[in-house]
Amino acid sequence: MTKVLLTADRTLMSDYHHHEFVGFGTCAPPNVIPDWLYSWLFFPPIKTKNGIPVAAPYGLRKVEAQLIKEGIDVLTVDPDHLDKYIDDAEVLGIHVMDPFGLGPASSTFAAVLKKEPFLAKHFRLLLENPIIRRAKRRGLKIIVGGPGVWQFKYKPEFVKEHGIDCIIDGEAEKVVGKIFKAALNNDELPQYYEVSLKETPSLDEIPDIVAPSINGLIEIGRGCPRGCKFCSVTLRPLRWYPYEKIMREISVNLESGYTAHTCLHAEDVMLYGSSNTMPKDEKLIKLHEFVVKKCEGMGWSHCSLAAVAAKPRLFATIAEIIKQKQPWWGAEIGIETGSPELAKKIMPAKAHPFKPEEWPDVVRTGMGLMHDHGLVPACTLIVGCPEETEDDLIKTIELMDDLKDIKSLIVPLYFVPMGRLKDEDWFKCEEITGLYRELLVKCLKHDVRWVYSLIDDSFAGRWYKPFITLLYKLFVRIIEYRCKKAGVPTR
Ligand code: SF4
Repeated sequence: MTKVLLTADRTLMSDYHHHEFVGFGTCAPPNVIPDWLYSWLFFPPIKTKNGIPVAAPYGLRKVEAQLIKEGIDVLTVDPDHLDKYIDDAEVLGIHVMDPFGLGPASSTFAAVLKKEPFLAKHFRLLLENPIIRRAKRRGLKIIVGGPGVWQFKYKPEFVKEHGIDCIIDGEAEKVVGKIFKAALNNDELPQYYEVSLKETPSLDEIPDIVAPSINGLIEIGRGCPRGCKFCSVTLRPLRWYPYEKIMREISVNLESGYTAHTCLHAEDVMLYGSSNTMPKDEKLIKLHEFVVKKCEGMGWSHCSLAAVAAKPRLFATIAEIIKQKQPWWGAEIGIETGSPELAKKIMPAKAHPFKPEEWPDVVRTGMGLMHDHGLVPACTLIVGCPEETEDDLIKTIELMDDLKDIKSLIVPLYFVPMGRLKDEDWFKCEEITGLYRELLVKCLKHDVRWVYSLIDDSFAGRWYKPFITLLYKLFVRIIEYRCKKAGVPTR
């Protein structure tokens, strides 16, 4: 009789065919292939045992660990199997990343295709699930948390209609116990709880996960020192986990038998152990040696071009360590703009230790090093920033020309008001014309050029490679065909 259940919607409870970046497909709306096929290709359901997923999103695992630490009996359940456990539950905790599709990637896709993205649809379907509605009528409390909670401020009606009792915004370790206990005691809950800076947990206060995380994702630190204006991560203090803690969490994944692969998660993995924007050689090398020794393969969640460009030798050493077990690895990278002027305005420290004026050179150098050493970046550009000029767009288009031979994916994203720019207007672009069209077409051509070989690389060595790569390639071909029909060149 577990009174507290944790879950996430269908798009988050998936291991994306063991490729974290395939999960970006959840940002798209229904499109050129049937929904069932698209779902299977981009977010197949994770394996379960009696409705319990073999792995869950890392953030949900942290909440689970904290609740267990505070003596609360808790069960993490797959969203399609809630019916097995919900009758005994008094509280349901839901983890969200982008619940309404307002994040940069999904809002861009939604604006272009004019439909609800899959991740928003599945979050809505989770809350519309009749078994949750029934449990709600008998008094089930719903508590929501995760990086996407800022979006609830735009959706007060949804919160009311779906009976969401409490939304926790921020790093929840120090508050989640008291809120769940209050829910179990039937005490009144705050509708929106913003975790204050004072309540941000120190390293000692962050518990280790106790069950496997999706794709072996393991946090190595929190926060970022670069302070880009459009980013909310930057408002948090910078903390790095000690090696022992990272290794303990990796052991949880390995010992479960779920995965022998680890994806190191930080806003900039290259800065592990550093208190500023210069990588620390010894710490970074030691971390990678430990991880490679213990695991069969590894990846990074994010890293910065500036850190790579600042320490090319260190980056080459790290690449050699990683490539002892695999030919390449991936990471998400923010290019955002090719304009030094715009970089100076919205992300003055992104190029640090170089000057913002040098940003395009930093991008070219960093991307070149990645290409040479086997890191394949999935890059983002931001279009429609409040202070963006035509000249800024032209410089970004020119930068795209310089990057055409770099094996990578580059995705343009519409500006979303977040971080210190949260009071600015959303970027609205009903029709994509002029320079915006030119930039989008450049990105499309770049991605089409590289995506076919990336599909092959991603599934190399798997027995099902011929079948699954055929489907992904077919999907890209259909997109190319549709673009051609609409007069948009892809090559
Ligand atoms: S470098 Fe990335 S994580 Fe850091 S502040 Fe800028 S956008 Fe945010």
